[in-house]
Amino acid sequence: MSNFFNSGLRLKLVTLVVIGIVSAFTVFGIFQVQVQKQRIADEMRRSGQERVSMISEAVANLLVGYDYSNMESLAERIVQQQDVQHLIIRNRDDKVMVARNKPSLPDQTTLSFTAPVQFSGDVIGRVDLELSLARVETEINRIYFDVVLQQISFGLFLGLLIYFAASHVIVKPIARISEHMKQSLGSKFDTMPEQLPLTSHDEIGDLTRIFNNLNRKIFEVQQQLRDKIDLAGSALMKTNEQLQQRSMELELRSQDLEKALDLVEKLAVTDSLTDLRNRRYFDDNLAASFARAQRFNEPLSLILVDIDYFKNINDTYGHAAGDTILQALANIFKSRTRETDICARLGGDEFAFLLYRANREDGLAFAEGLLAKAHQLKFTFHEQPIEIGLSIGIACNWDDIHSIEAIYGAADEAMYEAKRRGRNQVVAYPFDIQPYSGLKSAKINPKA
Ligand code: GH3
Ligand code: MG
Repeated sequence: MSNFFNSGLRLKLVTLVVIGIVSAFTVFGIFQVQVQKQRIADEMRRSGQERVSMISEAVANLLVGYDYSNMESLAERIVQQQDVQHLIIRNRDDKVMVARNKPSLPDQTTLSFTAPVQFSGDVIGRVDLELSLARVETEINRIYFDVVLQQISFGLFLGLLIYFAASHVIVKPIARISEHMKQSLGSKFDTMPEQLPLTSHDEIGDLTRIFNNLNRKIFEVQQQLRDKIDLAGSALMKTNEQLQQRSMELELRSQDLEKALDLVEKLAVTDSLTDLRNRRYFDDNLAASFARAQRFNEPLSLILVDIDYFKNINDTYGHAAGDTILQALANIFKSRTRETDICARLGGDEFAFLLYRANREDGLAFAEGLLAKAHQLKFTFHEQPIEIGLSIGIACNWDDIHSIEAIYGAADEAMYEAKRRGRNQVVAYPFDIQPYSGLKSAKINPKA
């Protein structure tokens, strides 16, 4: 049964229509047959009565004349008739004069008729006639069968006709709508869905209209959504581009800023004239380097350099000439400084070196090299050749020097000792105090 409910509309329709029509026609047929049966039964009764009356009329003369032989032959003839089952002729005393029987079949239905035999107004006897209904019943059954067969055939034919008509008018349009709905469900609504043709103005027509409207609305909403998504997408892309632009600008700015910071940091620790490290940088590193050297028990040499009679050079050849000399010396100092060492301009005409893992001898050798290089510098100002003299003092963390102040003071003392000894020379701490021997570099000292 559940299969029926789950089956398609066509099968349901054909089943219901055929059952309905066949049932209706069958009931109608049975009713018709019943009516017919009643009519035949009435007819049988009427004709039976007529026949018994006719027999009684024929029997009257025979009974009056006691003509038994003709009475019997009449009875014989009558009983030979197909539907006559019994015939009994009685006289006025109800005595059976003639009786004829036909063997009856089991369950045979019969109708009995009686008619008085009259002569000149007197009742002189009676005729009983029993008629078999077998033939009539056979006929009725045949009619039954024919009618039912006809009705069923006609019902089936009509059912199929109605089915095809209903299928064409109802099922087909619904199936078409259903098919379109399936297509719509699978569609992305990129294009306007195909409109279903309006074939009727009934409920199916309404359904078609609603379906078309629904499809159109879905398409419109889909379009609006797509437009909004496109709009949001392009706005997002624009914002993204702007963000990328900003981020690039920020990147550039941060690079500029880093460069500027590097420059600021460099400027903070660099001497602008000579591009050497400045006093601040030197002092900071001296403290750290000294502490490390002390901790690891490594030699460290501090060298202080002061240009001899530099004030005179400035005064004689101008400040620019003095700058040129400062820069030239700075270049020499840079070229001789190792990666691990530090060279700085402490201010004015004073320079300093910090040599890692360099003992007093190493420092002396380095300072002698500096002096030699400085002597190789040739300057001509106002057509006057100028030589540069340097007073160099050296101190090492060896010996009794255990603090920055001590090493710095020792180097300073050594440098002043060099000045005192006549300048343009190297003195390493500790040193023996020597008597002043006059100026060695007369050309450097215009006053000389
Ligand atoms: P001494 O041999 O005793 O060192 O004599 P000096 O003339 O060199 O005397 P001192 O070292 O005290 O003089 C330093 C001079 O350096 C004073 C100043 O005119 C000069 N000076 C300082 N800074 C600069 C500078 O940046 N450029 C120039 N051209 N000269 C400077
Ligand atoms: Mg000087």
